[in-house]
Amino acid sequence: GAERTKNVLILMSDTGGGHRASAEAIRDAFKLEFGDEYRIFVKDVWKEYTGWPLNDMERQYKFMLKHGQLWNVAFHSTSPRWIHSTYLSAIAAFYAKEVEAGLMEYKPDVIISVHPLMQHIPLWVLKWQGLQNKVIFVTVITDLNTCHRTWFNASVNRCYCPSEEVAKRALFDGLDSSQICVYGLPVRPSFCRAIISKDELREELEMDSNLPAVLLMGGGEGVGPVKKTAVALGEALYDQELGSPIGQIVVICGRNKILASTLEETEWKVPVKIRGFETQMEKWMGACDCIITKAGPGTIAEALIRGLPIILNDFIPGQEVGNVPYVVDNGAGVFSRSPKETAILVSEWFSTKTEERKKMSENAIRLAEPEAVFNIVKDIHKLASERKTLANFPSSLTSSFSYAI
Ligand code: UDP
Repeated sequence: GAERTKNVLILMSDTGGGHRASAEAIRDAFKLEFGDEYRIFVKDVWKEYTGWPLNDMERQYKFMLKHGQLWNVAFHSTSPRWIHSTYLSAIAAFYAKEVEAGLMEYKPDVIISVHPLMQHIPLWVLKWQGLQNKVIFVTVITDLNTCHRTWFNASVNRCYCPSEEVAKRALFDGLDSSQICVYGLPVRPSFCRAIISKDELREELEMDSNLPAVLLMGGGEGVGPVKKTAVALGEALYDQELGSPIGQIVVICGRNKILASTLEETEWKVPVKIRGFETQMEKWMGACDCIITKAGPGTIAEALIRGLPIILNDFIPGQEVGNVPYVVDNGAGVFSRSPKETAILVSEWFSTKTEERKKMSENAIRLAEPEAVFNIVKDIHKLASERKTLANFPSSLTSSFSYAI
């Protein structure tokens, strides 16, 4: 018979750009694969329904980014399970009602978490509501390698790990191998199914049609040594003897408005495009020949699909450390913290070392997982189809259940 449309609630947080990108990737893949069978809601539940500190995660994240050492301490000091579970229990008890209202509003048949802190509380709420056997709950991990333990919760129906390394950690943390799937990091379908040629993209984006191009960015927030690197590239990509540029630069500053305005005021001897937060990253990546970025998993996975050799110039301590060897050891890029060294390498890739650039590009494509997001949604669809009784949400919420923590 005709099945009713199923509701999928994706829990994310706008910290950086990666969680949102993964959430959008999953939403778009659902639409492409299953059309109207699913209704997808992407929600920053914490921001909308809870009080401090959870609704303030975005601001705290930015603060932590600026003070890397602090992030490092926070990342490692919350690692032992007893610390984070006690901390989270306290928060859960306090905010459970708000979270619950959020979950109930969307009457989800499937909940997908793409955030390290969005396992425990929603799962507890489901349990309290007696919905844990009716609502499918899955986690999609968006760190490639060294991920935080709060990602893992043994009550999930599935835990999608982007790499074998992360799968190992999941097993170590008590998940059963039947709960774990390794498909790769979900990347927006617009990256995976690109059809427009580089020439056309360059025309559309009003770039130089002949000069090789380097893309410089620093995640959704525009962090890392972007400014110094841009300036160093401006020098290195200008041939003094010929008096002409040997390359062009695209700088994507994300939400970092100060960075964008500072770069706008700089004088350049080579063609430069300075942009803010872009919604069509696949086009900029498709129009360029290599990328310089901090070690963000989203950006890395996208660059691999587009076959861009990667220069990693920074990483967020903790969860991004492992992304460096993932790229470097697989021959898809290099790591350098020096803007000058980075700029010289790019100028070589554009002149004397084009073969090296090509080799790295091939390695990048070999490492890429463009089908990951499709495999993830197909597997979720399978889980949803197997479930016989769909969730029946109470029309009004019971306010009388007690917390037993
Ligand atoms: N991104 C974007 N527009 C921008 C800058 C970044 O869509 O102007 C996207 C980028 O394509 C990637 C994500 O934001 O998907 C950044 O994620 P990553 O994991 O690299 O770093 P984060 O910002 O989460 O620290």
